[in-house]
Amino acid sequence: MGSNKIFFLTGSQDLYGAEPLAKVAANAENIVRELNGSGRLSAEIVWHPTVRNSAEIVSAMREANQDDDCIGVITWMHTFSPAKMRINGLKLLQKPLLHFATQFNRLLPWSEIDMDFMNLNQAAHGDREFGFICTRMGLARKVVVGHWSDPEALAAIDNWIRAAAGWHESQTLRVARIGDNMREVAVTEGDKVAAQIQFGYAVNTYGVGDVAECIARISEPEVDELFREYSELYAIPDRSPEALSSIRDAARQELGLRSFLEQVGARALTTTFEDLHGLNQLPGLACQRLMADGYGFGAEGDWKTAALLRIMKVMAFGLRGGVSFMEDYTYHLESGRERALGAHMLEVCPSIAADRPSLEVHPLGIGGKSAPARLRFGTPPGMAINASLIELKDRFRLIVNRVKTVAPDAALPRLPVAHTVWIPQPDFKTGVRRWIEAGGAHHAVYTPALSPEIMTDFARIAGIELTLIE
Ligand code: MN
Repeated sequence: MGSNKIFFLTGSQDLYGAEPLAKVAANAENIVRELNGSGRLSAEIVWHPTVRNSAEIVSAMREANQDDDCIGVITWMHTFSPAKMRINGLKLLQKPLLHFATQFNRLLPWSEIDMDFMNLNQAAHGDREFGFICTRMGLARKVVVGHWSDPEALAAIDNWIRAAAGWHESQTLRVARIGDNMREVAVTEGDKVAAQIQFGYAVNTYGVGDVAECIARISEPEVDELFREYSELYAIPDRSPEALSSIRDAARQELGLRSFLEQVGARALTTTFEDLHGLNQLPGLACQRLMADGYGFGAEGDWKTAALLRIMKVMAFGLRGGVSFMEDYTYHLESGRERALGAHMLEVCPSIAADRPSLEVHPLGIGGKSAPARLRFGTPPGMAINASLIELKDRFRLIVNRVKTVAPDAALPRLPVAHTVWIPQPDFKTGVRRWIEAGGAHHAVYTPALSPEIMTDFARIAGIELTLIE
């Protein structure tokens, strides 16, 4: 996110004359300085000279479109600014838009207010004219209201900046689909062309044999070095020769997969346990470790979740709490204390772990391969969300459910995978019912780091349907 920029465009018009316009520019620069100095925004805000007429607005929008580092545009109406002169520029804008309904002065100078003050500080007036044209043109934008020093307003702006950063990532993201779909599973299938038109990301299939070749090229010293890293990071309770040999195979897989993904330029991947030709175990540990490094992942060929996970990793950059692939697995239906247990066969991201993960080897029971290595851990209690992207006949739908993560009722000594226990909000029955009615997948992205508001902003920017359950 280091180079991400947001253009700050101030609207006015020539009518006011040189002196007020100089004041408008100075006030805008002041706000931009304060926004950048606040430490609350995850991208740099870049001041842009005041736009006063149609030609200047068209040129500013072109500039925003062409700048690869510009991930969005904030507009502010210092004064009244007739909106017909905005139409041609707004038609061109291809970056996310936020309308900041703010004003330079926080308080009205009641006893001194005169018409000069009124003319210079009429955001309330200008906001409505700008809002009308955006609505009239059907433009998706976020409207944030409040003084530019208000922490709530800044938090709302940062949520949008994060959603815009995710959208920016989506435009160039490549998803490597290693193998195809788990046979007969419906929700993980879909139209990759429709997804690229909607989201910008490209999903392409690669033969698992190409990955196997990369794995075979990894040297023993490279495996030794990665194994040393595992020993430092994780508890390894079973050091039998069989377990250590499986862990070393998993380390080789991780190194091979990394080199493969770098080679094809992918920041997200899918695997499927039904297509492992040339691999001796399902890559569990490798996918967990790749996720922890920011890669998107989807099991069983689930490219929609893989892409969404990568996008949400970008949105959560620098925030506490982690982001993981997740699956609704099993219910606890004790009356009044209902919960769901989320886990996966192997691939849960250690970024959401409560404590130091344990690196273990257990048989998988399906797939007919060797017992795979995996990181096992629980998650801390607190609020989180589950998000699922599904494809309907002619559109995509994002389903977001706020969940309350709780401690398991007892230790789970026989469960050999990472897991988490949650209560869907607003209550178990409503949350589960609405998720199912909306068509939410069994795969989801789980994160305590992102708010429903960020996901709402993302859905608006992406132009897709949103079902919010909270
Ligand atoms: Mn699954």
